[in-house]
Amino acid sequence: MLQQKFDELRLTGSLPSPSAVGLRVLELTQNEGYDQGELVQAILGDPALSGRILKLANNVTHAAAGPVATIAQATMRIGVTGVRNTALGFTLAADNREGLAGSFDYDLFWSRSLATAVAASVLAFELKQMAAAEAFTAGLLCDIGKLAFASVHPDKYSKLLRGQPHLEDEVLAPLETRVFGINHVEVSALMLEDWGLPASLQHGVLRHMGVGAAGPDVKKEVAVVGNLLRASKAIADILTLDPNSKRTAWLRACFRLDAIARELGIEPRVLHEIGDRIQPAWAEWSEFMGVPAGVAVNFVNTFAELRRIGIECPEPPATRPEPEEDEEAEELANDIATFEAPVAREAPLRILLIDDEEQMLRLISHYLEREGYDVVTAASSEEGLQKAVSHDPQLVISDWMLPGMSGIELTKTLRETEAGHKMYVLIVTAREDDEQVVEAFSNGVDDYIVKPFNPRILIARVQAGQRMVRMRERVEESERAQQRQVADLGILTRKLRAAALTDPLTRLPNRRYAMKRLKQEWDVARRLGKPLSVAVGDIDFFKRVNDEYGHDAGDAVLRAVSAEMRKSCRSGDVLARVGGEEFLLIHTGGDAEAAFASAERLRVAVENLVVQHEGRKLNVTLSMGVAERNGTMGRVDDLIKAGDEGLYMAKERGRNQVVRVDGGELPPMAQAG
Ligand code: GH3
Ligand code: MG
Ligand code: MG
Repeated sequence: MLQQKFDELRLTGSLPSPSAVGLRVLELTQNEGYDQGELVQAILGDPALSGRILKLANNVTHAAAGPVATIAQATMRIGVTGVRNTALGFTLAADNREGLAGSFDYDLFWSRSLATAVAASVLAFELKQMAAAEAFTAGLLCDIGKLAFASVHPDKYSKLLRGQPHLEDEVLAPLETRVFGINHVEVSALMLEDWGLPASLQHGVLRHMGVGAAGPDVKKEVAVVGNLLRASKAIADILTLDPNSKRTAWLRACFRLDAIARELGIEPRVLHEIGDRIQPAWAEWSEFMGVPAGVAVNFVNTFAELRRIGIECPEPPATRPEPEEDEEAEELANDIATFEAPVAREAPLRILLIDDEEQMLRLISHYLEREGYDVVTAASSEEGLQKAVSHDPQLVISDWMLPGMSGIELTKTLRETEAGHKMYVLIVTAREDDEQVVEAFSNGVDDYIVKPFNPRILIARVQAGQRMVRMRERVEESERAQQRQVADLGILTRKLRAAALTDPLTRLPNRRYAMKRLKQEWDVARRLGKPLSVAVGDIDFFKRVNDEYGHDAGDAVLRAVSAEMRKSCRSGDVLARVGGEEFLLIHTGGDAEAAFASAERLRVAVENLVVQHEGRKLNVTLSMGVAERNGTMGRVDDLIKAGDEGLYMAKERGRNQVVRVDGGELPPMAQAG
């Protein structure tokens, strides 16, 4: 549900994104065997980023180690994680310093994020519980979801904030959930996941707002990040409090800080001292980024003064919002709900549907019309072009394979015209291989969908397209918006590419990603002489699920099985959906035995999984074939082939088992599940 809400935000193409250099650094450093020279080169492509990385390196190092002067040295000092996180955080900040959401205070947002970041890094350093660079990034990005709302829904978000520059998380988050179905903390965590930041940061971000597992179930590193962020935000709140705010606001912020200190078992004075220590560093960073640094607060003195006049933090701490605020929130949510109503009523989207198969044409237009779209159909590409001119559709859905001019050629032709340039083109294709996807995008296709598809997926894609279309139209209405939002078409393209690497049904990486990734891992393994194994998996008798309970039940099983398998993966494993009910597990740095153990874990997890669907309990099993790269294998395909052989054996032997293939030969006792 959250993922779906997030995808809706993402598919607008307006989510904040790091710059091209930031993304390049991210891409390079995701791989252990990255090339240091290439990384330095990429960073140097952005002088501002280079400056920031140097500065961070000099900030975190002990004076005794001497100053750092080159990017190469800096990367060594702060480590690859530090570089990656800084590239991500800072290029993001640089590109999102202002925007359209009237009541969203962009300066305050960054100022507060920076204060949180600096506080987190100082705390991490003091408490020695996690790397300072990583803590910095967690602090900088833990509220990035707010910026996302401000970017995607500037008007609604402004309205929601109702001129209040800083609503407390406890008040803001439920409001956001009522209006958008997801809150900024959840959006932040999903954005971090999207950018490939460590899971402990994502979960820590959720944790600091009390989302996710609680008590002894929380992993230590997640709890560390969560606690660090809570304390850091409380410090940042005091630093960025408007000096004209009411005295009660001050007191509340101070109580909160002390309450958090107590909750975390930290002597409050330690946090006060850290508050005072971060101020100069925060001021420096702020100047560097051109963000106002706020008024100096002396924490130690302020708190001493509070104690002197006899004000102590009450116990138990007031962490819940007061009732009157809840009422206010409720009122505001209702307010927004009424405010939203007129916005939803727009003329139905005009769709042109092109397919040479009459039955397909009828079926798809039926689905579309049922959703209220205005559909015209064409049975050939020639007719399609004519209707594109006469009906001026906003969205075009075309089959790839058409007699005469193909769907791709049609797109190319459309793109050459002024009107066709603006149409959102969705191609329907039977195969999904790398070459095809690349060809489609490079010819101007906006999105594609693979046959056979679930009608709901089709509608979701059309809705995504509609959002793009509506966005484009809004952008056209406003000169200013146009400059801001379409100037960087690169972002749009990147978003589409990212979407092209994810399987929409299960949210697992798709075949295209898996093959690209496996090739990279193959090269690394070969260069460093490290082991690389794969497990090829296939659900047993899956056709029966569809036949007996219907395609929707099949989809539900696929989603549940995928989620369960993803949970059971070790952190270095990559799991992708490479076909209908076929999966590939890439197991890096481990031999066939370790990969076998991983595969076996997945098999058991699936065996024990009970999928609830429309009152039924469904259960499936999984067969897998495991193979390790060896000297006789010249290409990636050989490794997959070996895995396939294992899978075949597993099926032969009665399914629900993992079979390991060694060097193309089966060991005397192939393991059975
Ligand atoms: P085996 O144990 O030999 O693998 O038997 P099986 O029935 O799983 O094998 P088969 O490959 O014949 O069937 C796979 C089925 O998966 C066929 C197809 O209808 C179904 N399928 C493929 N993709 C999807 C999908 O996205 N959703 C649903 N519901 N079914 C799908
Ligand atoms: Mg199967
Ligand atoms: Mg199959």
